Order: sequence, then structure tokens, then C-alpha cells
Amino acid sequence: AKRTGGSSLAFFEPHMAIDTADHLQLQSDLRQALEDNQFELYYQPKIHGRRHRMSGLEALVRWNHPRLGIVGPDTFIPLAERFGLIVRLGHWVINEACRQVAAWSAEGRHMRVAVNLSVHQLRETSLVDSVEEALRRYGLLGSQLICEITESVAIQEREVTTRTFEGLARIGVHLSIDDFGTGYSSLSQLRDLPARQLKIDRSFVKDIESKEDARAVVEAVIKLAHALRLTVVAEGVETQGQRDVLLRLGCDELQGFFYARPMRANAVLGWSLDESAG
Ligand code: C2E
Ligand code: CA
Ligand code: CA
Ligand code: CA
Repeated sequence: AKRTGGSSLAFFEPHMAIDTADHLQLQSDLRQALEDNQFELYYQPKIHGRRHRMSGLEALVRWNHPRLGIVGPDTFIPLAERFGLIVRLGHWVINEACRQVAAWSAEGRHMRVAVNLSVHQLRETSLVDSVEEALRRYGLLGSQLICEITESVAIQEREVTTRTFEGLARIGVHLSIDDFGTGYSSLSQLRDLPARQLKIDRSFVKDIESKEDARAVVEAVIKLAHALRLTVVAEGVETQGQRDVLLRLGCDELQGFFYARPMRANAVLGWSLDESAG
């Protein structure tokens, strides 16, 4: 990629080859970001469909880049993975999410927060210990934390991930299978995972009103998940129509711009479902 004024990141696509100079620049930017605390967690509410209230939040990382402004995770997570920095970043995310949950608890609001894990974190044998340490540091129960892992990672990396999954489950942390429907897992593979929750990928939700087949898939996934005693979250809910269909199909929780965009931590306590579109 051509670097103009040091802002190659703005044009970076995960599949692009990057030259050595850019590589070094971005790598040092990311390292600096970790040292200077340039990362921030935003939080997006998940709504309990039947009870019509917030059931929890998903933490989504942002990079407050000194020159480029707010950079989204789709840009820098693949870079952090490529540069071997994702484990440190992921560690920061877990710690920061726990710190925030404890801060909300101190204000009398008990929140459950989900963090996203990279496959590189799952391969680390120390992951369970470091999650446990973060929980202990902030006086939290394992059940206040959810770990989201994409379906493809959960299935493809069975050997490496099973032990970690079981370790997390043992300390009470719930596992959620993210982007479900995109990873082609079989029923038996799904049944063997110690997961508690399944998140239907946004692409199915998008077509749920207009396409009969998308609706049929979502309906089948919800039935399957419930048969396996998993709760179902639909992500990417943008319209009232989508919400109505999902609730009719028995989806347990909903998340998406229809209710709220990811927001800064300091906006969470002031946010209310009644004032949102939902
Ligand atoms: P994801 O885990 O599937 O997260 C959902 C993404 O969809 C988020 O994008 C969220 O802002 C967006 N979203 C939520 N509701 C809607 C909606 O109604 N419509 C649309 N169009 N989009 C919606 P974001 O924050 O840019 O994150 C992108 C991805 O980056 C995440 O996808 C996740 O895979 C990854 N990511 C985010 N934070 C972390 C992190 O701390 N660690 C790791 N390893 N990955 C992360
Ligand atoms: Ca997620
Ligand atoms: Ca997702
Ligand atoms: Ca995704």
C-alpha cells in the first residue's frame, strides 16, 4: 500500500499485501497505542426480547488514533493478529471490561458484559488464568462475563480450543458462538461445545423480512438452539419489522442499531430502552 502522510491505515484492507515500511510503521503505531492507552471499549446493549429490558452489553474495541481519529476493529484487529500483538490487546480488553463492570456495580448497576476473543487468545494456555485473575482483581463472578467466539473458530480449532472452553466454563464464564450460520458447523459439533449462547449472524437478520428462506433458516436455528438449551441472540437488528419477526420466532435477545449503537462507557447508565426506538 502507498503511504501518504503516514495514514496508510485509512486505506488498509485485511487482504492487502503491505510493504515493509508500512508494516513497520503500523506495527510501531500499534505498539505505541498499547503503551499509551489509545484503545477504548464501546458498549452495545443486548435486549431481552420478552422482558423488554437490557440483558447485557457487548464490548467493542476502538482505537483513538492520534492522527486518524477513531479506527474500527475490522481494520486493526487483523493487523494486531498479524503483528503478534493481539494477545496483549485481548488481555487489555478483558481487564478493561472487568474494570468497567466493577465500576458500574459500584454505582448499583449490575451488568453482564461480553468480550470478543481472537483465535490467538484461545491458543494461549494462560488465557483461563488471566481471565480468572481479572475477575478476582475486580471482585467479579465468572457469570458477569461472556466470551464470544466466532462459529468458524469454535469449530475449526477444536483441538486447541476445547481445553480453553472447558476452563472458561469451569470458572463460570459463559461462552457464546458468534456469527452463527456462517461457519457450517454440524449439529453434533455444536452439541459438543460447552456454549450457552448462540448469536445469529447479521446477514440472516438483514433478509428476514424480505426473504422466506432467510426467515426459515432463522426459525430452524432458534429451534435447534433451544433444543440444545442455548439462548439465541440476533445481531444487526435495524428495523422494527425485523424485531417483530424475531420475537415471533422466539428469539431470546436482540442487539442492533434499532435499539442502540455501540456507545462510550459513560453513556451507558444514562441510556434507556424506553427512549430508544425499541
Ligand atoms: P462482531 O463481534 O460480529 O460485532 C458486531 C459488529 O456489528 C460491531 O462492529 C457492531 O458495531 C456492528 N453492529 C451492531 N449492530 C449493528 C446493526 O444493527 N447494523 C450493522 N450494520 N452493524 C451493527 P464493530 O464494532 O466494528 O466490530 C467489528 C468486529 O470486530 C466484531 O464483529 C468483532 O469480530 C471484532 N471485534 C470488536 N471488538 C473486538 C475485541 O475486543 N477483540 C477482538 N478479537 N475482536 C473484536
Ligand atoms: Ca461479537
Ligand atoms: Ca457477530
Ligand atoms: Ca462479525
